[in-house]
Amino acid sequence: MPDHADLSPVASTLRWINASPSPFHAVAIMAHILHRHGFVELSEMDSWRLEPGGRYFVIRGAASIIAFVTPLDHRHPPAVRMVGAHTDSPGLKLKPNPLKKKGNHWVADVEVYGGPLLSTWMDRDLSLAGMVGYIGPDGQSRQLLVDWREAVALVPNLAIHLNRTANDDYKIQRHEELSPIFMPLDAEQEEAQGRDLFLAELTKALVRNHPQMTLEGFTALDWDLFFYDTQPVARIGPEGSWVSGARLDNLISCFSGLRALLAILDEENRPEQALPMLACFHHEEVGSHSTTGAAGNFTEAVMGRLLPEPESMARSMARSRMLSVDNAHAVHPNFISKHDGNNAPEINKGVVIKSNANQRYTTHVISSSHLKALCRRLDLPVQDFTMRSDMPCGSTIGPMLSARLGLQSIDIGVPTWAMHSIRESAGALDIIGLDRLLAGFFSEPMEA
Ligand code: ZN
Repeated sequence: MPDHADLSPVASTLRWINASPSPFHAVAIMAHILHRHGFVELSEMDSWRLEPGGRYFVIRGAASIIAFVTPLDHRHPPAVRMVGAHTDSPGLKLKPNPLKKKGNHWVADVEVYGGPLLSTWMDRDLSLAGMVGYIGPDGQSRQLLVDWREAVALVPNLAIHLNRTANDDYKIQRHEELSPIFMPLDAEQEEAQGRDLFLAELTKALVRNHPQMTLEGFTALDWDLFFYDTQPVARIGPEGSWVSGARLDNLISCFSGLRALLAILDEENRPEQALPMLACFHHEEVGSHSTTGAAGNFTEAVMGRLLPEPESMARSMARSRMLSVDNAHAVHPNFISKHDGNNAPEINKGVVIKSNANQRYTTHVISSSHLKALCRRLDLPVQDFTMRSDMPCGSTIGPMLSARLGLQSIDIGVPTWAMHSIRESAGALDIIGLDRLLAGFFSEPMEA
């Protein structure tokens, strides 16, 4: 059973999530840490020459990353031990023409990305972050990370006196009522274009972020920018046993996977035929159908380089396993009837195995019994989750990846309250437990 003795996984989770306001930032941080630990970045455009026991990673679209360690023993098809997760979170995404006039203000024009709990975006101190595409003096288009780092906008609620039904089933109008207020409109700006005003603010943010860079001849062309809550992720509650903040779904899993991969780098910590792999994808919250999403061919493109022969690929997949890691719903004391009381996981009581009879999750008897045996060996508590039988079930990247690759899989994750809120909550002990479970998975002995 994990205890409070080693809180470093929780501290690094907080630090890394706070530094990852967008999927692009999350992947940049993972790449930076992997570099520091001797991983070599591979480009999909190059031919690859992989060494036994080599450490590598590949980035696609700046928002998805696959990291792996090649097996020491090349005589047999490798057993891939894949941890899959996603880098994106639901929220408000800035449109190409970013500002519009409303009353005496410039407001940000946003689309809803994925399925956030919209009401939680009201009255928060919002900043902006993501990736900017630009053209430089040489005429080439390139991209840069940008993070405003300070609160620059907010979506104020309408006062209760002006909306007497606010507490009675009120439905937020996405197009009309969710625009973050960006700046007041002063008299000189009456004729100004919102795009020009925004570009001026963007340039200031870029100068702050990249002080060494000269922006002469630089013209921003487009962006993938997301609003985010500036209140940092924090430990709260009794003895700091809860973690509260944005993007816990699913950066907790990405960063646990990363720590677990680093923990098994010593050769004696992993079997010779194992190929540990961490795969974190963008666009899960919007269905995964993109070049960077799990429904795209990123995984197969990497696997195909590692195992170009069809027979060795088939033999490898037959002995491979995946953990599809994504947060699970913890039983909520105020809404107990919304949960299946018989299969309702609790915060800080262990990692959750998610099951669904209709295969919305990949869990089945072989994969779950294997994982429960692993948890016993590691002395880790584990909990079961199913939806109520009269409620529809969510899904993950697990079913699409395991069906295509033909590898055994299970869906697991840390129990979480308020999933898709601007501030979600989870348990510190469960993060520690997930770290240990993923490292145990990467390093477990091969079966005969
Ligand atoms: Zn998720």
